[in-house]
Amino acid sequence: MEGCVLPLVIEPDPLLHLVSDIVDEVDDSIRLLMADMLATTRHNKGIGLAAIQVGVRKKVIIIDIDHHAEDESQFLHRGKPLYLVNAEVIERSDDTASYREGCLSLPEVFGDVYRPSSVVVSYLNENGERMQLAESNNLLTVCLQHEIDHSNGIVFLDHLSRLKKHMALDKLKKLKARGEQAS
Ligand SMILES: [Zn+2]
Repeated sequence: MEGCVLPLVIEPDPLLHLVSDIVDEVDDSIRLLMADMLATTRHNKGIGLAAIQVGVRKKVIIIDIDHHAEDESQFLHRGKPLYLVNAEVIERSDDTASYREGCLSLPEVFGDVYRPSSVVVSYLNENGERMQLAESNNLLTVCLQHEIDHSNGIVFLDHLSRLKKHMALDKLKKLKARGEQAS
């Protein structure tokens, strides 16, 4: 299924701070949304996206890390996009690791975010089957937590100090104002 590139929701935007709804059934409308989300992620050279970032308040996530791998040895998910519905972290390690995160909805801002270094995630796949993923100390571990946060109305800035968050939001407000003037 070939998807369409959708416009991104850019911070500051109240949508990014809403908790998304649980999906009752993984049907063709959800699979179409996933295809559009994948097209949108690839168009913007991202590695993952949550539905709220294209304005859809549903717990749907796609992760496309392996698309950026140079060869098979770098694959974290068999070389395929990962589709997750109603994903939640059901186990997390006490030890944490930091990674310099960015976000398609927060252009030009980055921050070192500390998160559990291992998680177990429960979700429904694109066929509605219950799945579990256990990941440790890799980019997929970070990405899963970043995208699940989006489904719960949390952006990575919420994990930073108040000062860093404030500075980043200031920059985003200015960027957005400039963008709106230009268009
Ligand atoms: Zn993000």
